[in-house]
Amino acid sequence: MPVSKKIVLRFPKRLVERPIIYRLVKDYELEFNILKASITPEQEGLLVLELKGNQKEYDKGIEFLMKAGVKIQSLSQDVTRNEERCTHCGACVTVCPTGAFRVDPKTMMIIFEDEKCIGCGLCITACPPRAMEVHF
Ligand code: SF4
Ligand code: SF4
Repeated sequence: MPVSKKIVLRFPKRLVERPIIYRLVKDYELEFNILKASITPEQEGLLVLELKGNQKEYDKGIEFLMKAGVKIQSLSQDVTRNEERCTHCGACVTVCPTGAFRVDPKTMMIIFEDEKCIGCGLCITACPPRAMEVHF
C-alpha cells in the first residue's frame, strides 16, 4: 500500500554529514521531497520531508532512521497561539522550519499562519511567554 507523509527529522550533530537520506532512497526505495532544511543553533540538523513509498518499506525506513539516532517528530499535534500571551517578540520567526510566522511590516506584529504549521513543536520551547500551545 502506498503512503505519503510529512515528517520532521532532527539529526544530532554527529549525523549531519552522513548520507542518511540517500539510504532511504537506495535501500527502501522511498521518494522524498525536502520541504525545509536547516541547522539549529545547537548544530542539530532539521529536515522537513514529504516521504512516499510502500508502507512496509516506509516503516523499515523509519526504523532505520530511529536506530541511526534521528529523532522523528509526530505531526499529529495541533499547535495554536494564545493571543493574550503573545508579546510579538519575534523569537518564533527564525525557529519555525516552515515559515509559519512572519513580521507584518506595517504593524511589526508577528503573524501566525497556522495552515503552514506542521506541528514540529520548536516554537513551543522558543517562545519566552509560552504563548504557543500544543493540543494532542
Ligand atoms: S515567540 Fe511567542 S511571544 Fe514571541 S512572537 Fe512568537 S508567539 Fe509571540
Ligand atoms: S510547531 Fe511552531 S515551529 Fe513548528 S511548524 Fe508549527 S508554528 Fe512552526
